[in-house]
Amino acid sequence: MKHALLIVDVQNDFVEGGSLAVAGGRDLAARLAEAVSANRDSASPRFDAIVTTQDWHISPGDHFSEDPDYVDSWPVHCVAESAGAEIVPPLAEALRSHGVTIAAKKGRYDAAYSGFEGVTESGLPLADALRAAGIARLTVAGIATDYCVRASALDAAREGFTTTLWREMCVGINPEKIERTLHEELPNAGVSIL
Ligand SMILES: [Zn+2]
Repeated sequence: MKHALLIVDVQNDFVEGGSLAVAGGRDLAARLAEAVSANRDSASPRFDAIVTTQDWHISPGDHFSEDPDYVDSWPVHCVAESAGAEIVPPLAEALRSHGVTIAAKKGRYDAAYSGFEGVTESGLPLADALRAAGIARLTVAGIATDYCVRASALDAAREGFTTTLWREMCVGINPEKIERTLHEELPNAGVSIL
């Protein structure tokens, strides 16, 4: 039973300087890069595998808006193949050096908050790819606590993975939603908060 670190959407558009920047995102990327490098260098690694998701939009309908409400509609972000959709550099470097077991992309033609709506390069749904790799336990980190991290952690638990949210390795948008995510929705769904 393998334990994977699931890193959700730590992409250039979601950190300072990006089109939909979340405060603290750039610092988070640096801290996650350190955690990934430490895992690689450890004699007894905490994680058996590192898994990533990326928001990857081609034509996601009203997920994009010129007048976004920042609840259901957003400025243009993470357009497939654009620099904004790439994983933030220090983390991308650490991931290359560590090796990523599974990488899933989501949201090509719709709004996709959960990484579990994503598919791998070979078109396998994330949950199937995780099971095929023998992964049963997930620690979830990334951006944003109250949106894509929340949705990914809820789906992970629903799919039967033993799921932990790594709170200090997440950054979020709306304080009230973050509070509800951490103290109600995730615990009620059986997700542990680290
Ligand atoms: Zn999106």
